[in-house]
Amino acid sequence: MQTANSPDTAEMSAAGGRIQRSNSLAENVYEAIFAQLMALKIAPGSRITVDNLVKELDVSHTPIREALGRLEGEGLVLKTHLIGYRAAPQITRRRFDELYEMRLLLEPHAAAKAAAAMDEAKLNTLLAAAGVMSRREGKDDRLRYSNFARQDAIFHDKIMEFSENELIRQTLSHQHTHFHIFRLMYHSRVTEEALDEHEAILAAFGSADPDAAQEAMRVHIEHSRDRLLPAFD
Ligand SMILES: [Zn+2]
Repeated sequence: MQTANSPDTAEMSAAGGRIQRSNSLAENVYEAIFAQLMALKIAPGSRITVDNLVKELDVSHTPIREALGRLEGEGLVLKTHLIGYRAAPQITRRRFDELYEMRLLLEPHAAAKAAAAMDEAKLNTLLAAAGVMSRREGKDDRLRYSNFARQDAIFHDKIMEFSENELIRQTLSHQHTHFHIFRLMYHSRVTEEALDEHEAILAAFGSADPDAAQEAMRVHIEHSRDRLLPAFD
């Protein structure tokens, strides 16, 4: 089990004010590369050179390789023997259609089950997960967008957890759906409209109404699909 960061995690060195603790450095490097991938600053399918990232982020090879390994596990980076790393290619239209067909089959049903099993603790967990997304804080749009993608993944995953079918939850989670769909379009509309739809889902959970939860989730996924479809034009 991992322990929480101790208070001295952000302890600065006397010399340069650089964060010395390797775990937070690794985390910062990971976040920086993740944000670049989500905002398409590293284009889908393009090569990722460790040396370039070393220069750009002004860190050693070790945290870069660590971050790339983690991103590989999340499906955002591919590693090819003797060639190296590249950003995962953009999903194809066919895969996109398959993904949304699967989501529409599974997630509204799971949302209904989660609503039927809703209690105060679960509702608070979901409200907190959704609340993080609605905060418009942070000057860096790129970072905000990538955080939204991750929080949206957590929000949907929590609903799957509360629906108590671990197989459905894993099946969806292994697709890294949110990371792939959010890379289709870097646009504030993608995030702003989703917030209203999340509100409707939360309202249905708040009244523990399975039918309303199922409908609200269906609407959210259909609208998400329709928002992203122009990316293939
Ligand atoms: Zn969502």
